Amino acid sequence: VERPNEIEATVAAFLRRFGDDCGVRLEQTLTDLGLDLQHRDAVTYEGALLKFKGVPRGTIVLSMRIPDAGRRRFTLAHEVGHYVLPSQRDSLQPCSKRSIESWDKSLGLQEAAANQFAAELLMPTNRLRDVIVEPPTFEGVKAIADICGTSLTASASRLSELTSFRMATVWSQAGRVRWYRASADFVRWVRKGDLSPESYAYDAFRGMTPPDGYESVPARAWLFEKGLKEDARILEHSIALTTYDAVLSLLLIAEEIELSDEPDLALDPDEFTTKRRRWPR
Ligand SMILES: [Zn+2]
Repeated sequence: VERPNEIEATVAAFLRRFGDDCGVRLEQTLTDLGLDLQHRDAVTYEGALLKFKGVPRGTIVLSMRIPDAGRRRFTLAHEVGHYVLPSQRDSLQPCSKRSIESWDKSLGLQEAAANQFAAELLMPTNRLRDVIVEPPTFEGVKAIADICGTSLTASASRLSELTSFRMATVWSQAGRVRWYRASADFVRWVRKGDLSPESYAYDAFRGMTPPDGYESVPARAWLFEKGLKEDARILEHSIALTTYDAVLSLLLIAEEIELSDEPDLALDPDEFTTKRRRWPR
């Protein structure tokens, strides 16, 4: 994401001013920021920021069609991000459904930065410490959603950003992997495009209810196979998000899946010395 320091610094200043839990009452901060809020029956966008260059006021417009409160809050925070991030003061594009709560790398840098701002503002690390030290599960995702008033998708993405386990959140729509967000230690790349029939997410798009917990699947169902043991397996827990024709999957690497005699070119050697928090098990 573009300008992490700018995002971190802006979020930190915002939380100092309005409190660590301001995300759950974000609307109440708008007046102090010089922002009005309007709701419209918009189809082509979920949120928009209307402002004139050089004027320290603006109007945020939210679509009335956003189907849940968590996503609505995230969209609002995303628009606040466009307003308060110093590098975005001149951007006035409406934000489409595709850009909100998404970690699709093909999104523009400004959209990605607004999403990162929203994630850090609504789900500050300080409020999640008890959750992120535990092995990542959907129970943890729901705990974040309860604490922060965020959607399961946003909560799972945030958990995969903060956990030190080898975990990824994958978002699929219409039978295809659209984007994923992996923890720093996940290391592997998830395959985008058509879901593998060996995944439970694949079944979920065919009307089958996925198991209510992690299940073991072949690693090749999700990951590029280069450097993997032939029988490598990972854990998958998928849930259907029927409102979005989407499936949200948590992937957890809970055992050694890499060939040990092959140097893994995907690993950054620095990670083993300075940043790495958890060794592969
Ligand atoms: Zn946007």
